[in-house]
Amino acid sequence: MLEQMPSARPIIDAHLDLSWSALGWDRDLTLRLDELRRSEEHMSDHRARGNATVTIDELRRGNVALCFATLLARAVPPGAVLPPSVDLDTATQQVGIPADGSSRRALDYPSRAHAHAAAQGQLAYYRQLEQEGYVTVILTRSQLESHWQRWSAEGATPHELPIGLIVTMEGADPIVTPEQTSRWYEQGLRAVGPVHYGRSTYAVGTGFQGPMTEAGHALLREFERLNMILDVTHLSDESFTDALEHFDGRVIASHHNCRALVPRQRQLTDDQITRLIERDAVIGLALDAWMLHSECRAGAGMGDIVELEAAADHIDHICNLAGTCRHSGIGSDLDGGFGREQTPAGLDTIADLQKLDAILEDRGYSSEDRDLIFHGNWLRLLRETLPQ
Ligand SMILES: [Zn+2]
Repeated sequence: MLEQMPSARPIIDAHLDLSWSALGWDRDLTLRLDELRRSEEHMSDHRARGNATVTIDELRRGNVALCFATLLARAVPPGAVLPPSVDLDTATQQVGIPADGSSRRALDYPSRAHAHAAAQGQLAYYRQLEQEGYVTVILTRSQLESHWQRWSAEGATPHELPIGLIVTMEGADPIVTPEQTSRWYEQGLRAVGPVHYGRSTYAVGTGFQGPMTEAGHALLREFERLNMILDVTHLSDESFTDALEHFDGRVIASHHNCRALVPRQRQLTDDQITRLIERDAVIGLALDAWMLHSECRAGAGMGDIVELEAAADHIDHICNLAGTCRHSGIGSDLDGGFGREQTPAGLDTIADLQKLDAILEDRGYSSEDRDLIFHGNWLRLLRETLPQ
């Protein structure tokens, strides 16, 4: 039986790439973490091999009741590359399909039709995990309420409960046309970021500058009509501004830290944070050391130079700008192409997110405020946004 962390507070994690980790990296997330790490001992294709931090067991042990689980598949025409000067995180140091065709950790596909099919496969993976009792895909407010009740009930046994999943999409390439958004919504998709790194049909993402495209504006109109949540994470500064001007629906930043602390384009400026607060958005704290500390370089490991205190600094910064704790949450990204080699010291598995509780308590956050940050803000946003 799993040993629960002492006095664990329920967590909602607004960004995990579970299906990409499983299907792109050939990982069985139902293994125990030590088994999963051992299964990769012979692999040397990436520094994150053998260093995974997220499994179903570890989510349960960390009392992660619910997570936003991505579909992640990019359409990158053959030959497209990003300039070497671009700040890339570990997941995407290489954009495009390798010349030798050896595309393990598949992320990039030669067309949107391919990306569409890959994301449908990722969705099928979540549905199969659901069949096996590991997760439950949450589409409606009533499903959310009954799920939350099971996890927060007196004497709840998280080690036996399914993890709730809100299905999201990181980069909208799998939505082949804006009109197709409604089909995805029917299938369970509830939040979308229009672009990942580089450019998509809809917007300009991390590492580049530029506004949304006309197709992007049409996509936003569909999101608004359907009540699809817009995730601004990965939008370039111009696309960010453009998106907020063209979209009146609900906005989040699923996994996004502060540029005032880590001065790279991947993070949010204070002005952007202020605009998100005005829209009653929630901003999820990402636990990639590269996004937490300015001295970390992408893909260089270096997690050991960053303490978990750095994560609390980003929470502090957002709460100070807002004057309240109502806009700060967790969006860990802990399986986003890196492992424990690039997490803050002391964070060996996702269950260690619970250590943030004591750090925030020491900084004067009340128990109510810590509830908001751990789950309450995401819960409120979902209650206000999901269909009945
Ligand atoms: Zn990301």
